[in-house]
Amino acid sequence: MKGTTPFTKEILQQILDVSPDPLLITDSESNIIYANTSWEKLTGYSFAEVKNKNPRILQSGKTPPRIYKAMWARLQQKKPFISDGIRDKKKNGSEYQISSSIYPITQNDVIKYFVQIQHDITFAKKMDEFRKAFLSLSAHELKTPITVLKLLTQSHLLKAKKRGEDTINISELELIDQEIDRLITLINDMLDSSRFETGKEVMTFETIDLAPVIKKTVKKIQIFAKNHTVRIDHLIPNTIVIADSMRIEQVLLNLLSNAVKYSPPEKTVRVSMRNDKKRVIISVSDEGVGIPKSKQKLIFDRYYQVKSKSKVGFGLGLYIAKEIIKKHKGKLWVESIKGKGSTFYFSLPRFV
Ligand code: ADP
Repeated sequence: MKGTTPFTKEILQQILDVSPDPLLITDSESNIIYANTSWEKLTGYSFAEVKNKNPRILQSGKTPPRIYKAMWARLQQKKPFISDGIRDKKKNGSEYQISSSIYPITQNDVIKYFVQIQHDITFAKKMDEFRKAFLSLSAHELKTPITVLKLLTQSHLLKAKKRGEDTINISELELIDQEIDRLITLINDMLDSSRFETGKEVMTFETIDLAPVIKKTVKKIQIFAKNHTVRIDHLIPNTIVIADSMRIEQVLLNLLSNAVKYSPPEKTVRVSMRNDKKRVIISVSDEGVGIPKSKQKLIFDRYYQVKSKSKVGFGLGLYIAKEIIKKHKGKLWVESIKGKGSTFYFSLPRFV
């Protein structure tokens, strides 16, 4: 081949040294045999200082032991291990969080070396914490002025109606009132999502009968969805679950409003309920736009929207619903055919 000579050891070393990612190589006994320049810069150790030592010298004691356990289980199976959870410390004692990928290198099916490639993700983690704090703070800050706006608008609306003012004034006030409702939904979703993210959500579990909760929620949606038919196909009375009824109502309301939002007027939305051995399964079906198969898992992710045609929401509704159902030891899933419609299901363990 033209101009190619096999890499010499020196050339290979230079290649590893120019890698912007810190890289560490140990032998099969976990003795350090190579560290590149980026690794030296990250940790503050020189290669000469750590040569033949065990990478244990970097441990801060803050990494959960399960991570090391999982790491050795993978490596012994000769499979790579990747984790964002390792917290190490530098030579100067300061801690850093790394995203670490460790690859076993084998010869004749025997492990010869371990190669560890790292990224310092301390900054990314700090930014993520800042984002969470900011989201929660701004949602709280927005809540008070919006509540005041809502109360004032409603009071003006009431007065205008009493005075029999011209309909333009009234419809403008009604529009303001609706926009405020959208903002309230958005703020509540932001707050809920940050509470679930930080594990600060509060649930009140009680034994409840599901059928009346479903009836009540369907009635609520019928008030808003005047152009759709929303109907209950099947209800099973005395289905007892241990649940937070407000949260279950929230999940159902979210599925129902999505069913209405993503299906054309005049179509029917159906709610049904069935029992299997240990669970009750509630379904909400629509005859709307449907969801392509490739997107059906993604829609439960935070901020994910197939198409952002909808004016309300941030793509948080299904994420929050899934978190709520998870807390109830249930499942939330979807079956859908693009262009035909969707059925969302959630299951809850029955209390017997
Ligand atoms: P949002 O409705 O605010 O966008 P959701 O988390 O409730 O957020 O839904 C995420 C996405 O899933 C929506 O943007 C939409 O694309 C899709 N989706 C949800 N429900 C339905 C449905 N019943 N029919 C079709 N698409 C839906």
